[in-house]
Amino acid sequence: MYTSRIILNKENYKKNLKFISKIIGTKVIISSVIKGDAYGHSIKSFVPMAEECGINHFSVFSEDEAFVVKKYSKGNPTIMIMGAISSKNINWIIENDIEFYVFNYQRLLTALKFAKRLKKKIKIHIEVETGLNRTGLSEEELPQFFDILRENKKNIELKGLCTHFAGAESIANYYRIKKQRIRFKKYIDFFEKNKINCKLIHAASSAAAITMPKTRFDMVRVGIMQYGFWPSAEVQMFYMSKRKSGIDPLAPVLLAPVLSWESKIMSIKSVNKSEYIGYSNNYLVSNKMKIGTVPVGYSDGYSRTLSDNSYVIIKNKLAKVVGIINMNLFQVDLTHIEDVKIGDKVILVGKDSDVEIKFNSFDERKNFLNYEILTKIDKKIPRKIIEN
Ligand SMILES: *Cc1c(COP(=O)(O)O)cnc(C)c1O
Repeated sequence: MYTSRIILNKENYKKNLKFISKIIGTKVIISSVIKGDAYGHSIKSFVPMAEECGINHFSVFSEDEAFVVKKYSKGNPTIMIMGAISSKNINWIIENDIEFYVFNYQRLLTALKFAKRLKKKIKIHIEVETGLNRTGLSEEELPQFFDILRENKKNIELKGLCTHFAGAESIANYYRIKKQRIRFKKYIDFFEKNKINCKLIHAASSAAAITMPKTRFDMVRVGIMQYGFWPSAEVQMFYMSKRKSGIDPLAPVLLAPVLSWESKIMSIKSVNKSEYIGYSNNYLVSNKMKIGTVPVGYSDGYSRTLSDNSYVIIKNKLAKVVGIINMNLFQVDLTHIEDVKIGDKVILVGKDSDVEIKFNSFDERKNFLNYEILTKIDKKIPRKIIEN
C-alpha cells in the first residue's frame, strides 16, 4: 500500500526536449543527466520514458546509477559516468562498454590493466582542468597521457574531451566561465596539434547551453532543464530578453515540470479555538478550523522544514500546511474549502487548473518547494507515467 504517488508527464518531457533542441539546434547531441536518481524522478521509470522520446545518451554520477540504467533501458544507450567508479566493478563497466571520465593517472592505469586482461577497450572521456578546480587534468599532465593513449590503442578508445563550468547559471560568474571557455579551447587545439582525435567535445550543462552558444561544441549535458525547470532566474531572464520583441515576457514559457506528487485526504476533523494542532505547542487555533490529515511525512521525503511553511492543492485551492510535519503524515487547513471529503485528491507538487506548486532551484516564494526536496522523495513511492 502506498499513501502517495509520483506522476511523470511524458508530454511535458517531450515539450522540454523540443524547446531545448530549438535553442541548441539539432546537430548538438543531448546527453540526459540523470544523477541523483534522475533528480528524484527515479532512473528506473525515467530512462525508458526518455528513450521513447528519442534520448540515447545518459550521464550518471556513479556505476551504481549505470547499473540501474542498464537494467531498465529498453534500448542500447550510451552511458557515461562523470564521477565515481570502483575497481570492484571495473570489469562490469568495461564489459558493458560503459564510458567514463578520466581525470588522473591512477584511474587510467587501473582501468587499462583490467582492459588488457579482458582483451577489451575502455571508453574514456578526458576531463581537463579549466578553473573549477574540482577534478580534471592540467596542461602539464597531458603529454604523458598522450603517450599512454598512443601506446595502448588496442585497449583505449578516446570518446571525448570535456570540462565543467563553475556555475554558469549565475551572471556573477560570467568572467570566470569565459576564462574557462578560453582555456578549454587551448586544450582542444593542443589535442589537435598532437593528432589526438577526441571525437566528442562537451562542456555545457543546461545554463551554459542556453546562454553561451560557444560552449555547446558536439554535445551538451542537460540536467535540470529537461525536467522542466530553469537553472536560475537569470538564465530565464536571459532567454526572455533574447526573444523577439512583441512577445509578452510573462507568457508561459515552454518548459513544463515532468513530475507531480499526489496523495489523498485520510481524515478530516474540526478543531476549536484555543486548541493546539499536532505535536508541541506549535500551532494555536485562533478560530474554529477544519483540519485534514495527509498520509505523507518526512520519511517519504516531504521535509520537516516545510512545517507551517508550505501549501498543497485541494479542489483547485491552496491549503496551508499547519503544524509540524510528522514521520508519516502532516495536516492542512481545509476551513476555506467547501464540500471537501475523505479520499479527495491532494496535490503536493503539481498543477490543478489555476493553481500550481512547483519545485524550484532558485525561488523561495510560498508555492515553490526547494529543489533539494526533489532529490529526497522516497524511491519506494510508485512512479506512474502519463501520456498527457
Ligand atoms: C549535474 C551536471 C550537469 C547537469 O547540470 P544541470 O545544471 O542540471 O543541467 C552537467 N555536467 C556535470 C558534470 C554535472 O555534474
